[in-house]
Amino acid sequence: MRTIAHLINGEAVNSQRTLAVTNPSTGQVTGQVADASAADVERAIAAAKDAFPAWRDTPPAKRAQVMFRFKQLLEEHAERIVQLVSEEHGKTVEDALGELKRGIENVEYACGVPELLKGEYSHNAGSGIDAWSNFQPLGVVAGITPFNFPAMVPLWMYPMAIACGNTFILKPSEKDPSAALAVAELLQEAGLPKGVMNVVHGGREAVETLLDAKEVKAISFVGSTPIAETIYQRGASTGKRVQALGGAKNHAVVLPDADLENAANTLMGAAYGSCGERCMAISVAVCVGDETADRLVETLLPKIAELKVGPGTDKGLDMGPLVTAAHRDKVLGYIEEGVSAGAKLVADGRDLSVAGHEEGFFVGGCLFDHVTRDMRIYQEEIFGPVLCIVRVGSLDDAMALINDHEYGNGTCLFTRDGEAARRFTDGIEVGMVGVNVPLPVPVAYHSFGGWKRSLFGDLHAYGPDSVRFYTRRKAVSQRWPSVSEATRAEFSFPANQ
Ligand code: NAD
Repeated sequence: MRTIAHLINGEAVNSQRTLAVTNPSTGQVTGQVADASAADVERAIAAAKDAFPAWRDTPPAKRAQVMFRFKQLLEEHAERIVQLVSEEHGKTVEDALGELKRGIENVEYACGVPELLKGEYSHNAGSGIDAWSNFQPLGVVAGITPFNFPAMVPLWMYPMAIACGNTFILKPSEKDPSAALAVAELLQEAGLPKGVMNVVHGGREAVETLLDAKEVKAISFVGSTPIAETIYQRGASTGKRVQALGGAKNHAVVLPDADLENAANTLMGAAYGSCGERCMAISVAVCVGDETADRLVETLLPKIAELKVGPGTDKGLDMGPLVTAAHRDKVLGYIEEGVSAGAKLVADGRDLSVAGHEEGFFVGGCLFDHVTRDMRIYQEEIFGPVLCIVRVGSLDDAMALINDHEYGNGTCLFTRDGEAARRFTDGIEVGMVGVNVPLPVPVAYHSFGGWKRSLFGDLHAYGPDSVRFYTRRKAVSQRWPSVSEATRAEFSFPANQ
């Protein structure tokens, strides 16, 4: 049985309370994770606060050197991290490696922090006056992350926060905390001073202590929309910067001219990869015309039947289990409800059993046809291996449907028509858009974020927006009048004529 401790001021720290961690492929409890009390979190805040002045004054190029070593260590320890992700989350090892690689891209971007923090300079902004803006760290900042990307989502946050000169407290998901801790320990090994990076585990009490602490200057959150909204409101009420990324219902539109085989193949990965537990998963395929829908269903069905499902730690599988028994039951509840509401369940993965893993939380691929906008399976995020087909008459109808949805994280259009693609990318009210790319997750040197109720706050995660989020601008105007220069009192507002 593994014990998963906090990382506070460079030391492993336990709590009086613990929470069970389960392997979803076997249903067995494999570890106990410390569950932080308010006092534990306050200890981490104090460590981060103490470490801040020296880290703030460390030159950006030296901070970047830590990131270079961190990247190297992540690559050397990839196999161990991927194994931890797969054991506690359930996703396949190949998928876990993909998430780790996307996380490492953020470390690579943070290696360029001296360039990113260069600031802006104007010589002679007024006569004899030079003006510049520089970007200074905020102090202690915190990140709260979800279960579905235990390695990658924390890496969206703290490499850049720390490279910018802040100190950090991470509160990872209590469902799969080991990978997040292992990654943070490597950052320590890379030469980061103690207290700059801290990890506290736990649930609501830990999060609320971070939200209410006046020493914490900013919160990055990724998780479900109801919690994201609460975090945004409560964090803002104590004067913090907050970026809170929430849930999703991502639609892919299939036009009649699309290459159906390509659309179906890429939709399979986008809908069923990671058992549908991705905030960018495609959970609705909007088909323009009945013929398109019929052809898509026909193409998808044999592929769904061939999905290889099993324990994520085995190689060569397509899908692992859902993360917990409670989440599996929630997904099964949605499927039941879709059937009762009149949607046609053309692929039913409910009875799937994996030999030797009967206690695992497995659900096979499910496909609903004839889903309508009034159904809960259309409106709500299921976060499981369930794809819904909605039939519409035109691209305009598809766009109106998507624009009316409360979420706006990701979307995709399958077509060969450039004019339609341009209309779609211009007019769709969604933050991340693909054309024939169903998982349009931006690369690390862009930024990631949805619109509408998929993101609360102003700046997106990682990339250029994260440099802005984790720093505050200081604008300096400087003049050195010569001793011989005559000066006099000026009462009108200074302006360049
Ligand atoms: P969650 O909201 O249940 O938990 C996220 C974090 O918040 C965890 O660390 C958890 O411990 C904490 N938390 C949970 N309940 C809390 C409460 N009442 N008060 C304070 N903190 C609380 O989300 P999850 O189930 O771990 O993750 C899945 C969700 O995350 C999905 O909705 C998914 O779409 C979303 N997600 C969004 C993105 C994005 O970029 N928009 C990325 C990944 C996941």
